[in-house]
Amino acid sequence: MTDNIAGKVIVITGASSGMGAAAARHLAREGAAVVLGARRADRIDALAAEIIDAGGKARAVETDVTKRDDLKRLADAAVETYGRIDVLINNAGVMPLSPLERVKVDEWDQMIDVNLKGVLYGVAAALPHMIARKSGHIINLSSVAGHKIFSGSAVYSATKYAVRAVSEGLRQEMAPHNVRVTIISPGAVKTELLDHISEKDVQQANRDYVAQIGVPAETFARLVAFAINEPEDVGINEILFRPTAQEL
Ligand code: NDP
Repeated sequence: MTDNIAGKVIVITGASSGMGAAAARHLAREGAAVVLGARRADRIDALAAEIIDAGGKARAVETDVTKRDDLKRLADAAVETYGRIDVLINNAGVMPLSPLERVKVDEWDQMIDVNLKGVLYGVAAALPHMIARKSGHIINLSSVAGHKIFSGSAVYSATKYAVRAVSEGLRQEMAPHNVRVTIISPGAVKTELLDHISEKDVQQANRDYVAQIGVPAETFARLVAFAINEPEDVGINEILFRPTAQEL
């Protein structure tokens, strides 16, 4: 079996909860050095300590992905500490769903800033290192909502469709540079994502649904590990997964 995770330096945004935290634990167990970014420094500090206590390698760097300088600092910290960046997982995201008629313009801005501009800032920070080494892997989080539009998901879906567009363009442009690009589009996963929906009726409906059918965050951890583990001449370009019970 290929072992293409051990020894890699993997930067993960949104590592303070949900799928980012699950991926950090899983990849560290597989022998990667993980560099964790998120705004809640206490959470990523505790996760890094947990990984180190278990014999792994981890560093936490407080990061707000809406700030370009923060992503540069995160990427630079990985290079300073471990010498390079093998993989960047642009996982940070927010999903304050609501119908457009409720005109939650600040939340629209936040979704564009975190889900789209945050991904671009991550790419901007990591790409020069990867191109210089002619090696790397960028993994971007889209969603089933980046393939379909639901009532209340218009702006969230717009950001996740955009992530797919950026990722496919990046894949084409990076082929000569030996940088792999993967889009992962999850369906319903049990995380903290619904906690920040401000419209209570929308939040409750989504909570009921995800509580009923959602799969654990470790599902994502296994699939991201699969994409990384493939040999360097194979790019897993798209993974779309849903709970078996999810219809749409
Ligand atoms: P969580 O809410 O559990 O995790 C989201 C992470 O994003 C947190 O670690 C949070 O950290 C981070 N984050 C949010 N805003 C910022 C910011 N400005 N700067 C840095 N980090 C930020 O949700 P999930 O694990 O579910 O979400 C992970 C990704 O998966 C997201 O991109 C989401 O859109 C996507 N996704 C999730 C699905 C699901 O069903 N759960 C389905 C499809 C896609 P902090 O608050 O500490 O900054």
